[in-house]
Amino acid sequence: MNQTDTANGMTKDTCEADLAESLDETPGISVGGLVGHEPLPKDPAETPQEKLIRRLATMLEAYLEPAQVEDVYRAYFVAERAHEGQYRVSGEPYICHPISVSIILAGMRMDVKGVMAGLLHDVIEDTDITKEQLLREFGEEVAQLVDGVSKLTQLDGKSRAEAQAHNVRKMVMAMVKDLRVIMVKLADRLHNMRTLGVMASQRRRRIARETLDIYAPIANRLGMNELRMELEDLGFAAYHPMRYRVLKREVKKASGNRKELVTNVENAISTRLADCGLTNFQVVGREKHLFSLYGKMRNKRLSFAEVLDVYAFRIITRTVDECYRALGMAHNLFKPVPNRFKDYIAVPRANGYQSLHTVLVGPYGQPLEIQIRTSAMHHMAECGIAAHWLYKSESDQVSLSQSRAHEWLRDLLEIQKHAGDSLEFLDNLKIDLFQHEVYILTPKGKIIKLPQSATIVDFAYAVHTDVGNACVSARIDRALSPLHTQLVNGQTVEVITAPWARPNPLWLNFVVTAKARSAIRGYLRNFKKQEAINLGRKLLEKELGARGMRLEDISDARFNELLKTLDLTSREALQEDIGLGNRLPFLVVRLLMQEEINPLNPRPEGAGKAVRTPLIIKGAEGTVVSLAKCCRPIPGDEIVGFFNPGKGIVVHSSECKNTIDLRKKQFTGLDVEWDKQVVGDFSVEIRLELLNKLGTLAKVASAISKMNANIENVQITDQDSELSTDVITLAVKNRAHLANVMRELRKLSVVLKISRIKSETKPKRT
Ligand code: MN
Repeated sequence: MNQTDTANGMTKDTCEADLAESLDETPGISVGGLVGHEPLPKDPAETPQEKLIRRLATMLEAYLEPAQVEDVYRAYFVAERAHEGQYRVSGEPYICHPISVSIILAGMRMDVKGVMAGLLHDVIEDTDITKEQLLREFGEEVAQLVDGVSKLTQLDGKSRAEAQAHNVRKMVMAMVKDLRVIMVKLADRLHNMRTLGVMASQRRRRIARETLDIYAPIANRLGMNELRMELEDLGFAAYHPMRYRVLKREVKKASGNRKELVTNVENAISTRLADCGLTNFQVVGREKHLFSLYGKMRNKRLSFAEVLDVYAFRIITRTVDECYRALGMAHNLFKPVPNRFKDYIAVPRANGYQSLHTVLVGPYGQPLEIQIRTSAMHHMAECGIAAHWLYKSESDQVSLSQSRAHEWLRDLLEIQKHAGDSLEFLDNLKIDLFQHEVYILTPKGKIIKLPQSATIVDFAYAVHTDVGNACVSARIDRALSPLHTQLVNGQTVEVITAPWARPNPLWLNFVVTAKARSAIRGYLRNFKKQEAINLGRKLLEKELGARGMRLEDISDARFNELLKTLDLTSREALQEDIGLGNRLPFLVVRLLMQEEINPLNPRPEGAGKAVRTPLIIKGAEGTVVSLAKCCRPIPGDEIVGFFNPGKGIVVHSSECKNTIDLRKKQFTGLDVEWDKQVVGDFSVEIRLELLNKLGTLAKVASAISKMNANIENVQITDQDSELSTDVITLAVKNRAHLANVMRELRKLSVVLKISRIKSETKPKRT
C-alpha cells in the first residue's frame, strides 16, 4: 500500500497515477494518461506521423462514439492537407505537432469538438484556411475554438510586448466564452515546451519566460496541477538550464539517503491509521517538483540542504470525516508545528483546491509536510477544471472547481472592461495570477479571499465595486484603521463608506488586486472623460455665444454632417475631443457654420467679440484644466488658456513668455477668468537675495509662516560668502496674500531683493 517515488526527481509521479485508478471507479485512462504515453505494438515501417495518429485513434475509440471518431478524422485530413510541405524546426512534418496536441487533449478526455480543434489549432494562423471555411466545414464551435487560440495577425507597428499583450487578451476573452479554448492552448503550449530543445536559445528563453509568467499560472488558477508542474519544470529547464541541471543532480544524490526515512514515516503513519480502524487509505511520500524547490530556495533564501530536509507526505482517504480523523491521529503520532495547520477543506482555495495541510516534527526533528484529502479531492487537485471532461461525473469537487473557474472568468471580464489597453490588461492579469491568499471576514461572517498584502481598499472592491468607490476607512476587528492598512488572515473588516467619497489616484500605490486596480483606473479615466465632455460642451457654447448663437440653434442634421466629416461617432465624442484639447473649438464652430477657412489666418480679427463669455477657473484641481508650471498663475493674476492636445487646457499667466509662442500656434489664447469664489492653495515661486548669515533662512521661514503661507520647496541657486540667492516655492491663497507675504519679507534686514518668478523654466545663474 505504501508507495514512494523517490528514485527520480521528476514531477511525474507514476504511483499517483496508479492510485487515481485504483481509487476511482472511472476505468481506462488515468490521470497519468494525460501525458499520452500508452504502449503500442511496434511496426518498424511506421512513420512517426502514422504512429501518432494510431495512438490518437486508440485513445479516442476508448471514449468517443464511432461517428465522433469519424469527425476527428475529417478534421485530421483537412489539417494534414493544409500543413502539407510545412516542417517543424526538428525536421518532422508539421502535422505531428497538432496530432500530439490532440493526444494530450484526448488524455484529458476532451470532447470531440475540443480534439478536432486541437488538430486544426494552427490552420488559421499558419495556412490559407480561414475561419469561414472552418465554420462551413466543421460548424460554429470548432471554428470559434480554433479562432480563439489563433494569434492576431494585424499587429504591424506594434512592439513585441504590445503584440504579446494583444494576443493574450484575445485568448483570455475567448477563454471566457469557452473554457475549451484554454485547454487547447495549454495542450499546444505543453507540446511546444516538450519539444523546445531544438529552438534557438534566445527564442527558447522567451517562450520559457512566457510559459512561466502566463500559462503555468493560468493552469494553476484552473487547478490543473499536474499540467502546471510539467510546464513549470520545462520552463525552468529552458530558462535556467544550469540551475536546473545542478538542482536535479542534488535531488538525485539526496534521494538515496531520504528513502529510509520516507519508508519509516510512511509505515509509522499507515500502522497508526490502521490501528485506529481506518481502511482503504493511502500514505504516499511525495517528491516536490524542481521548480517549486527552486522557488523555495530563492524566496526563502534557503540552501540545498535546507530545502531538501523537508519531507512531504500525502494521506488519501475515502471520506471527509476520515480526513479529520487521520489528522488527529497524525498529530497524535508526531508533534505538530504550531500555526502551520491549514483547513482548505472548510475554506477551499480560489481554484477550488481542497486538503488539510499540517507540518509535523519527524523522528529526527525534520519537518514533515502532510496533506490529507479524499480521493475525489485528489483528482481535483491534480487536474482541476480538466476533471470535468476526465471524470464525467458532476461530483461536489468537480462542480466546485467549475464554479471557481467561472468566478475567476467573471473577474477577468471585469478587469478587461476597465483596462485601458492590452498592456494594462496583461499587467492586471499577471497580478491576478501571482497571488498568495489571505482570508478576511465581512461583519456578517462571509469569507473573502484576497492576495497577501491586500489592503482595506482591495477588500472594499472585492465586496463590491460601489463599496470600493465610496470607501473612506474601515474597522479592522472593531478598531478604526486607515485605507492603506494591509490585512492579515482571519481579520473581520467593516468598510466605512461616504456618499461624497470617490477613488483617489494615490490608492494605486498600495492596492494589490487587479480588480481594485482596474476599477480605480477605470473610474479615473471615466472621470477625466466626463470632465472633458463637460468642458468641451462649455467651450463649444462659449464659442457659439461669441457669435450670439446657442448650441440649440444648430440643427441635428448639421451636427451629424459635421460628425461624419470629422469621422466621429457622437456629439459626446466631439465634445471630449475638444475638452482634451485635440480640436480647437473655434475651428469646429467654423466647420459647423460651413465657413471657408483660410489656413494661414483661420481666425480673422474681430470675429465673434459680440459677447464675452470667459471660461471660469475654479481652482488648481481638475483633470482637464491645469495651471502652467512655468509661470504658476494664482488668483488675481490675468490669465489665458491654451490647449494641450490630449491633456485639456493649461492656464498661463498673461505675462508668461511661453504664451507668445502658444498664441502664434493656436491663433489666440482662450478667454479664461478666475472664479470669484475660488478657494484653495496655489503654488508660486519667489526669488530672494539674502545676506548669507547664520539664521537668515530661519528668519525668512518664520516671516512666511507668520503670514499663514506654506513653504513647499527651497532651492539655493547661487551662494558666496556674502550673498545667497534662493528660490522659494510657496502655497498662497491669491495675489493679495502673496503681496502681504512679500511685504513682510521686505521688512527683514537680511532680505536685499525680492521678486516673483514669472515664466522662467530654469532659475538664472549669474
Ligand atoms: Mn501550435
